[in-house]
Amino acid sequence: MMPKEMRLEEISIDVLPGVGEQRKKELEGLGIHSIADLLSYYPYRYEDYRLTDLAEAQHEERVTVQGRVFTQPSMRWFGKNKSRMHIKLDVDGVFISVIWFNQAYLKKMIQPGKTILVSGKWDRHRLQITADRTVISEEEQKKLVGRLEPVYSVTNGIKMSWLRKLVYQAFVDYGKHIPENLPEELLQRYKLLPRAKAMYYLHFPKGQRESYQARRRIAYEELFLYECKLMWLKRMHRTETEGIVHTFDQQKVDQFIAGLAFPLTGAQQRVVSEILQDMKQPVQMNRLVQGDVGSGKTVVAAIALYANYLSGYQGALMVPTEILADQHTESLRKLLSPYDVRVICLTGKMTAKERREALAEIEMGLADIVVGTHALIQEPVVFRRLGLVITDEQHRFGVKQRAALREKGISPDVLFMTATPIPRTLAITVFGEMDVSTIDEMPAGRQPVDTYWVKKEVWPRIIKFIEKECQKGRQAYVICPLIEESEKLDLQNAQEVYEQLTVELAPIRVGLLHGRMNSVEKEEVMNAFSANEVQVLISTTVVEVGVNVPNATVMVIYDADRFGLAQLHQLRGRVGRGGGAATCILVADPKSESGVERMRIMTETTDGFEISKRDLELRGPGDFLGVKQSGLPDFKVADLNEDGRILEVARQDAARIVLQKDFPQNEDYRVLYEWLQKEKLESLNFD
Ligand code: ADP
Ligand code: MG
Repeated sequence: MMPKEMRLEEISIDVLPGVGEQRKKELEGLGIHSIADLLSYYPYRYEDYRLTDLAEAQHEERVTVQGRVFTQPSMRWFGKNKSRMHIKLDVDGVFISVIWFNQAYLKKMIQPGKTILVSGKWDRHRLQITADRTVISEEEQKKLVGRLEPVYSVTNGIKMSWLRKLVYQAFVDYGKHIPENLPEELLQRYKLLPRAKAMYYLHFPKGQRESYQARRRIAYEELFLYECKLMWLKRMHRTETEGIVHTFDQQKVDQFIAGLAFPLTGAQQRVVSEILQDMKQPVQMNRLVQGDVGSGKTVVAAIALYANYLSGYQGALMVPTEILADQHTESLRKLLSPYDVRVICLTGKMTAKERREALAEIEMGLADIVVGTHALIQEPVVFRRLGLVITDEQHRFGVKQRAALREKGISPDVLFMTATPIPRTLAITVFGEMDVSTIDEMPAGRQPVDTYWVKKEVWPRIIKFIEKECQKGRQAYVICPLIEESEKLDLQNAQEVYEQLTVELAPIRVGLLHGRMNSVEKEEVMNAFSANEVQVLISTTVVEVGVNVPNATVMVIYDADRFGLAQLHQLRGRVGRGGGAATCILVADPKSESGVERMRIMTETTDGFEISKRDLELRGPGDFLGVKQSGLPDFKVADLNEDGRILEVARQDAARIVLQKDFPQNEDYRVLYEWLQKEKLESLNFD
């Protein structure tokens, strides 16, 4: 007698007949330890035994037919091991030829009158199949015809046919103990197959429909359960961390916005109000703002920082590089000094004395906003009353950093801003416990950057083009990539281009910026470029993120195929920020197909979300986020590339159910709740 509540995760596979010491080890090599593991060891494809209607089959299509052998096999030999065997086969009254290469052993089994099943390539003109799969046993045929046979990934000497039988056996013995784990209402609403049935069909579908329905059910289940974990995390986070209640005069904020040089876009307005709404709540804000390059995130940050200031708190803005720290300090000062907000910058190039003074100002609360690199929260910086932390241009502000803040006894509101839009499916998977705001609109009058892809041989013409633009008063970037094998080469490349252009473009002034200059040198060059004292800036990738020089309209990227799509898009985003027309020229002779593809995508679209979508398709989620830090869950069936819609729905359902106040008490969700209690949620802390 089997107990009703049987935990299949706890039953070792060696309870199954035929699984001894040796087999057990081999299965474990495939990651199969328990019955549950085996039942969810899904095939990666199916062997198709459905019969083809030859009248409809295309030339060279793969077909499967069942028919009566009509002639004795005739053999021809080419040398010792090479043979060709031929028969006539009667398929529903139509006579076709079947040939086999090098499968002479079949000869004695293929006799006239016998019914056989063959698959292979169809030659429509000769009415002939070149068979690569033959089933002689009629009993086997009865079992297989019309089916899709699972194909598993096997190693370690496990035979496919044995594994199939084992999986089948496991379903016979334990299938009825597979528990349903989705709430009934969801099964009903989406007409999902019961779990046990879906799992069975994933292994042994009778046809395409079953396999589709099974896949749909399990994909939904995986995504839903994952989202439930995220929502549970969010729910606990909410109750555990008391947030600062920001109280400020909305009118003053409105005045500040009205005083800007431009009206906010609709998207900016929406995102600002989402942020301010969060700030007023007694829960800690944990929000990600996604916006394409140039969509105007800085001003959104400024508004949030101003509201934070009005509430009586200090704010911090963290950026990845010192150049950016300088730039943002300047932008914020321009925007906020008229309102008596004191913005200071904390960077590595300060003298010891300057630094001491800055730290003192922060500690005494004289500094209202502090801009700096990440060191800002790691160093012995003591804020008097920190209310808001914004991280700009940062893919992820790790859990570690947030913990560092909490350790200092502060749980300020936290806002992340990223210009590397990641497709929503990934965003809500990886940043799942955060709220996401998206600035999906460009400021009015922004023209898409004209983008061309040219071969290196036209370099002289590009120099002419740069010259012409500079004569019109515009400025240009020329980016030379970092060549990984040798830092030297990289510099040489930039250096050579710098020397060449200095000569050829004279009297136009050319500057050089690279990663090995110290921060004072970098700043000098950057300032000269910002002030239009230098018209052409040759640079390695340090300008990649965030830099804002609206007068620059030309972006030339040398060896562009060495960059990834996200980087190229970022770089291109450096131009066309002033409202006029801008040009991006990709100079590349790509050697790889993916290089060509990247160049093509760049010339086809300037939409960062579209680009990241294509990038994701090209590279897959793991590579896209960087394998090591991807933090992506390991779904067996769900595919983030394809199941975006299912994910959206699953997320909504998870939020509705798990964030419901009485969720833990609700009998309908008991199974789900108990499962969440058992799951290790720490594993979700991406860092
Ligand atoms: P990013 O989102 O890439 O950080 P920035 O905040 O640097 O973009 O803004 C890019 C440029 O667009 C800046 O010069 C900024 O002043 C300008 N800008 C921002 N918002 C608007 C707007 N609503 N209308 C017009 N220009 C804007
Ligand atoms: Mg920015």
